[in-house]
Amino acid sequence: MNTLAINGGTPVRTNPFPKWPIFGKEEEELILEVVRSGKWGGSTRNMLPVMEEKFAAMHDAKYAVSVVNGTIGLTVALQALGVQPGDEVIMPPYTFIATASCALLFGAIPVFVDVEPDTLLLDPEKVEAAITPRTKAIIAVHIAGASANMTRLGEIARKHGLGLLEDAAQGVGASWDGKPVGALGDFGSFSFQSGKNVTAGEGGILLTNDEKLADTAWSIANVGRVRNGAWYQHERVGWNLRMTEFQAAIVLAQLTRYDEQLLHRDRNAKLLDELLADMPGLRTLRHDPRMTQHAHHMYMFAMTPDAAELADKEAFIRHVNAEGVPLHPGYVTLNKNGAIISDIEKWTGERREQFCPVSERFAEREGLWLHQNVLLGSEADMYDVAAALRKVLKASGL
Ligand SMILES: *Cc1c(COP(=O)(O)O)cnc(C)c1O
Repeated sequence: MNTLAINGGTPVRTNPFPKWPIFGKEEEELILEVVRSGKWGGSTRNMLPVMEEKFAAMHDAKYAVSVVNGTIGLTVALQALGVQPGDEVIMPPYTFIATASCALLFGAIPVFVDVEPDTLLLDPEKVEAAITPRTKAIIAVHIAGASANMTRLGEIARKHGLGLLEDAAQGVGASWDGKPVGALGDFGSFSFQSGKNVTAGEGGILLTNDEKLADTAWSIANVGRVRNGAWYQHERVGWNLRMTEFQAAIVLAQLTRYDEQLLHRDRNAKLLDELLADMPGLRTLRHDPRMTQHAHHMYMFAMTPDAAELADKEAFIRHVNAEGVPLHPGYVTLNKNGAIISDIEKWTGERREQFCPVSERFAEREGLWLHQNVLLGSEADMYDVAAALRKVLKASGL
């Protein structure tokens, strides 16, 4: 009974967790409507304006500009904020690579500032020390769906005249101090990529409360046109970065389930927090009381330093996976990613060593993830997750 599955024992569970994406009649009907309308893209739209309005309203934002994906959304936002090649953009290193590649796409330089050990969010107290005359913007990443400290980051951005961009790819429906994320900074960028909590396969959207920024972003994403201008009137160099009507339709259908799914994930994440709280060898993350709604794109937690000494992270994950729980090792910290380092060197001529010990430690030794679809399982499924973790911890001597 207590033999680990990996040693030929019985796994804690063999049932799969809910598959992602979840879809139904809503997606089918709206897609069919798009096909039959003959309006699939370009300038005449049915679904896109409705989706943009709905998504903006959901996040208390005045303006929305949809784009091809979240990476490009971040690039468009940086460019609309006036970031130029050679300018520096402050960001956390514990995030998806797009947070940095969006800047490198046009020669803006990522500057990594470490995350807080207990939240894994950009540490505002370390941001100010990293500001130089070249700094033009800060990217706050709502990692796993937890809002970054937008109060403090907003103060710092205002004080130094920097753009503040929220990478909210994982933050649909999250809130900080009672206000939805997305338009708390100058821009918020969301992603509808296949794994995200609201997905259209691919896609992205920018939110802002600033009409001028919205118009600039729209222009960049619409080959430099101006709203209500002539078809061949291009007032800047821009690109066709539009999403299709098919994607807008799928997003609209996905949104019909969003509130219910968020509640479901919320219940299970809170249950996991309780189940893991006094498990020796594990620590849960701290949630700032001002983080009034977590979007639960992932459930992140960590091995304690003691446990990480006793059990190698990679082996620990392999054992938990064998027990039927899809535990994941998470990101490689971006400050140590060879491709990023080389690209920064290409643009600056300098090979920059950037030390972010908190992010490095979490990525390499302690950090653990469960993806959002796991949180869509039943309450009993969460007890299975806890049982698998406890079994492997015990076998590791904890
Ligand atoms: C998914 C993601 C992106 C990029 O979005 P794409 O739509 O895949 O380009 C950017 N930042 C974070 C934090 C993400 O999770």
